[in-house]
Amino acid sequence: MIVIASSNGDVGIRQSIAMMKAGGSTLDALEAGIRLVEDNPADHWVGYSGMPSILGEVELDASIMDGRDLTAGAVGCVKGFPHPISIARKVMEQLPHVFLVGPGAERFAAEMGFEPREMITPETRQTWQADLASLAQNPTQLENQPLAGLVRHFSNPHRTRGTVNFIARDDRGNIATGVSTSGFYGKYPGRLGDSPVIGAGNYADNRYGAAACTGMGEMAIRASTARSVVMYLKQGLTLEAAGIQAMIDLRDLGGRFISGMNIIAMNAQGRVAAFSSEPGKTYIYMTGEDSDFHVATRSFVDVPQRWEA
Ligand code: ASP
Repeated sequence: MIVIASSNGDVGIRQSIAMMKAGGSTLDALEAGIRLVEDNPADHWVGYSGMPSILGEVELDASIMDGRDLTAGAVGCVKGFPHPISIARKVMEQLPHVFLVGPGAERFAAEMGFEPREMITPETRQTWQADLASLAQNPTQLENQPLAGLVRHFSNPHRTRGTVNFIARDDRGNIATGVSTSGFYGKYPGRLGDSPVIGAGNYADNRYGAAACTGMGEMAIRASTARSVVMYLKQGLTLEAAGIQAMIDLRDLGGRFISGMNIIAMNAQGRVAAFSSEPGKTYIYMTGEDSDFHVATRSFVDVPQRWEA
């Protein structure tokens, strides 16, 4: 068995391996690991204490995919519930749907018995207020004001980063993928990134492998990045070549807003690799034989940034 995760999965990866050792499925393993990241108050990009939208509201996105049969569940723009990964799993298991957003997702979460919680912390609220103040904006006067120009200026690509990715594989070759995020800091209300979009930020198929992304979600949506990695594996590329090709697809995107991207990936045999547009960026993995996780460096693929706000 093996689990690969983005580096901020360090608070949950041991729990994922422990779950599988205790007989849990890959879905149980990654849900348990991601919930610990969602609960981590020091992580301002996932779950509780996540950074808010331009209006100061924490809107969470998550998805889960089962590589055995390609079933999937996703939620987007969920306010007031701290564990979107678990809500996404319930969507997969309890509904004939894949994707719920906004008030419908929140209604479903309540119906499934999830406990609501105040998601913004005093610290994240203060950061948001200070960042707005630096643009001469008063947080209490945004409600009825045009936001598009402000979002373009507020969203410095260097401070919008963070999401957690987990891919778990058991000893029978079953692979599952989970992604959870508070998304782009200072986003326009209602914005969805790649994390809840199956094929963009998350994809798993036992036959070929799996991939998940962090970084500027708009890019992964436009290039279908997670699905592309798996499609390149299906076409016979090695894991390394598949990841690099998916990064090159991102580098080739046009448009005014190009920022960073990171991919973790696994092939059907359980080999792992990871890729980043930032040199020196790390990921983690742990097998059933390991007493702790390993930290490894991602392969760097240059994707020149441009941000023409
Ligand atoms: N991919 C996430 C999103 O676009 C954010 C991130 O990973 O930085 O919502």
